[in-house]
Amino acid sequence: MRVAVTFLLFLTALRAQVACACDPQDPDSLKERRCSLCAVVEHAPPGTPVVLVKDNSLKKPDRWLALPRTHSPGMHQMSALTDAQRTELWSTAIAKAKELWGDQWAVAYNAEKLHTQCHVHVHIGKLLDGVEWGEFKVIDSPDQIPQPGADGLWIHPVNGKLHVHLGEQLTETVLWQ
Ligand SMILES: [Zn+2]
Ligand SMILES: [Zn+2]
Repeated sequence: MRVAVTFLLFLTALRAQVACACDPQDPDSLKERRCSLCAVVEHAPPGTPVVLVKDNSLKKPDRWLALPRTHSPGMHQMSALTDAQRTELWSTAIAKAKELWGDQWAVAYNAEKLHTQCHVHVHIGKLLDGVEWGEFKVIDSPDQIPQPGADGLWIHPVNGKLHVHLGEQLTETVLWQ
């Protein structure tokens, strides 16, 4: 019996981890920890396409996040954004990153399975010295940034172009805390 109950609790916890019931029409639902970024964007005026906020983790005092103002059902996916929304998200994140860190910036999006927040979020920070690994694509502007799919990606500037490192998992490790 105890085993059954434990198993049931385990299943409930597992489901709670992946289920995103964040509903902006129901403020109570946004009190869930995994909905807290959904709550953050709700404070911005509806006409704001992208919301910039400081990362509230005490371990990451120099980090910012870029968030699309719009929500999508369940665990929000980058693929639920239109091309225009996605370009606006990356452009705004990159502009903020440049403002903060000059040429030493990077922006990073973690693989979906690692998300603990339901709302789409791009990490903004300072690139660690000498980081350059994995597969990358060289592009000229944010509108050329490909869909990450379920994987993560990170982007940094090199000689006036952008490197897009695709097929990554935990990506924010390329950033200073
Ligand atoms: Zn949301
Ligand atoms: Zn690179």
